[in-house]
Amino acid sequence: MDRFIPLSIPNFEGNEKKYVDDALDQGWVSTGGAYITKLEQELAKFLRTDNVAACQSGTAALHLSLAEAGVNPGDVVLVPPLTFIAAVNPVKYRFATPVFIDCDDSLCMDPVKLRDFCEQECDFADGTLRWQDKPVKAVVVVHVFGNLADMEAVMDVAERYNLKVIEDATEALGSRWTEGRFAGKYAGTAGDFGCFSFNGNKIITTGGGGAVTARDPKTVDHLRFLSTQAKTDPHYYIHDEVGYNYRMTNLQAALGVAQMEELPDFIGRKQRNYERYRAAFEGFSLAELLPFREGTESNKWFYSLCLDRSRIDAPLKEIILALREKGIESRPIWGLINEQLPYREEEAYRLEKAPYYAARVINIPSSTQITEEEIDYVADEVKRLLKGLCHG
Ligand SMILES: *Cc1c(COP(=O)(O)O)cnc(C)c1O
Repeated sequence: MDRFIPLSIPNFEGNEKKYVDDALDQGWVSTGGAYITKLEQELAKFLRTDNVAACQSGTAALHLSLAEAGVNPGDVVLVPPLTFIAAVNPVKYRFATPVFIDCDDSLCMDPVKLRDFCEQECDFADGTLRWQDKPVKAVVVVHVFGNLADMEAVMDVAERYNLKVIEDATEALGSRWTEGRFAGKYAGTAGDFGCFSFNGNKIITTGGGGAVTARDPKTVDHLRFLSTQAKTDPHYYIHDEVGYNYRMTNLQAALGVAQMEELPDFIGRKQRNYERYRAAFEGFSLAELLPFREGTESNKWFYSLCLDRSRIDAPLKEIILALREKGIESRPIWGLINEQLPYREEEAYRLEKAPYYAARVINIPSSTQITEEEIDYVADEVKRLLKGLCHG
């Protein structure tokens, strides 16, 4: 049988079937039911926060956060160029204007360029930051691949300029700081809002789904209210605000409750698998396995290999296809969002690192089920391939 090692697949080794069957048996399949509340409680306990609202997707969590943050048509939101496009699209749903801020070597937003943009390109008066006369309201910070952004520095800038901070923690459930101002805090609980995703390839999955939290528990209540059609009076159909149909279903939540039981184990596996890859690529000069930030304990969701472009000029696509021949699924890091058709006219501020990494990072298999033997095989095949493509 031919070997195939997938990039990232879900893991249902626990109570998934049991809980989903139970939800079906009870007849609670839609946006009401005990599993939704249970999942919210389990998430809040895990994240050591007071209140979490479950919703339809990570994208919905981001959309709700921007609405709650008061981002309105014509406002500006500072966003990353090198991430999954769902981190940025909700800015357009609000008819706001994104401005792209570069990443640093962690692939997350560079707080120095963020500060420079606010300081040098904007005006700050009467507590409002303005760029080209438009109010700058918020910043979306993504913890890319589970690696935490430099939130301490980001929050310093945000606090100085009255910006709301939305943490896109969709890839970082379980990553936490171990040092500094946020020591002991989890991704998604350092900023004003934290967004999570339980899509198929995330560290836990509900098929599709997400969650949102906020610093103030009352804000989370309001986010939940907005996600359920903003029913001011549910019996007489009174709605004083425009709501959304963004609530998670009980079927999804049943899957989520089972996945939450396994989350600590999943994180442990991801961390051990990363260590094995790290040892395998130690001293290999044609590609570097990118590290995770010091002073943090990452969930190590996804692994990134960064090619030495002075000696390997093969396009990422060629490398990915060659690995596929060997039964190894890999993928290129994302194309830059500011280069996608709907975003080409938007401001991209001093991008240097984002295009640098976009041209040289591929992700290698990181499922929780991957075996040690498979990791060794992937590392050997990647090394063999890159040696063959190397010049000079
Ligand atoms: C997965 C992901 C999202 C969106 O989550 P969905 O649940 O798929 O809507 C947003 N941002 C980033 C960085 C992601 O990786």
